[in-house]
Amino acid sequence: MYKLYSATLELTRKCNAKCRHCIVNAGAEKDNELSTERIMNLLEELSDEGCSNIVLTGGEPFLREDWALFLQKAKALNMQIVMMTNGLKLDDNIIKILKRFNVTIGISLDGAEAKTHDMIRGVPGIFEHFKEVLPKLRKAGVYAVVATTVMKSNYNELDRIKDLLLKLKAEAWQIQVVKPCSRLLESELLSEQEYYKLAEKIAEFRQKYGKKMNIVESDCIGYNSILTPKLYIKEWAGCECGINSVSIESDGNVKGCPNMNNSEGNISNIPFRDIWQSHESFKYNRKPNVDSLEGFCKQCEHKYVCRGGCPTNCKTKDGGAYCLHKIETVGYNE
Ligand code: SF4
Ligand code: SF4
Ligand code: SF4
Repeated sequence: MYKLYSATLELTRKCNAKCRHCIVNAGAEKDNELSTERIMNLLEELSDEGCSNIVLTGGEPFLREDWALFLQKAKALNMQIVMMTNGLKLDDNIIKILKRFNVTIGISLDGAEAKTHDMIRGVPGIFEHFKEVLPKLRKAGVYAVVATTVMKSNYNELDRIKDLLLKLKAEAWQIQVVKPCSRLLESELLSEQEYYKLAEKIAEFRQKYGKKMNIVESDCIGYNSILTPKLYIKEWAGCECGINSVSIESDGNVKGCPNMNNSEGNISNIPFRDIWQSHESFKYNRKPNVDSLEGFCKQCEHKYVCRGGCPTNCKTKDGGAYCLHKIETVGYNE
């Protein structure tokens, strides 16, 4: 029996932004997106498997007219709710509803100024909108985590983004590394050296500003490093897709994580439980083959627990993981 803890549910692939680093290539809605009724039933199925944490995402989840019904349902099932948004649709009315259901908001900021943020997100004016919306969320008592995806275009703006967030009294800031995806220009990917320096910067930010703002990095930065005690990460026990977390696309496709691009089955024609409890599902994590790891991971002493870090991260030139421990042991590849 596999016990689920957290599920990410893409409500729609439709989006009103055109971010250059969008991992799901959002824009138009997918063919055959799930009906209101199917999503309501799915929330019950997820709860039956143990899910107590639901992340509603997109595309832009607020573009779906029935989004508030799902908050009502998730709340009735005692789930903690997180919604990921580009912020464009947030207004006073929506913010009131978010407060009512105790929703945590993840909202993006990828630049310290309009020129950068608007360019990365592909929407003129989105930077100014962010600066208006974040204080409104705070005033209404909605907990908001600002998410910044670091790439070449904004790498040198991190100090200024931090200053802006402190000025706006942001409560939490999550910093993540850009991942390779179809829309992204290869020239935006960070080098291993930049990756390591970013981890050092996050450690420094946490030490200096951690009392004012909760600063965390995501699964893409690790693993087993001397920096670990200064970073948010605790003991890294490997990717949790299919172990206690799952992701469902807007057409019902089930996969491990929104960053992945595969399929374990589709809940439009079979119950979620049949996919989640099947011994054939999520084999890469449930029955991992560490001998297939590449590069430094192959010989690493942590490989049986770590299993090569986040499977959707950039790879080094020898096919191994972007990894702080690897860099500390054998240096940079380039
Ligand atoms: S707002 Fe999110 S879903 Fe929309 S294009 Fe940007 S990254 Fe993709
Ligand atoms: S080298 Fe690979 S297996 Fe070892 S800690 Fe880094 S990512 Fe994990
Ligand atoms: S694929 Fe990466 S980001 Fe997704 S759950 Fe696994 S480690 Fe985390």
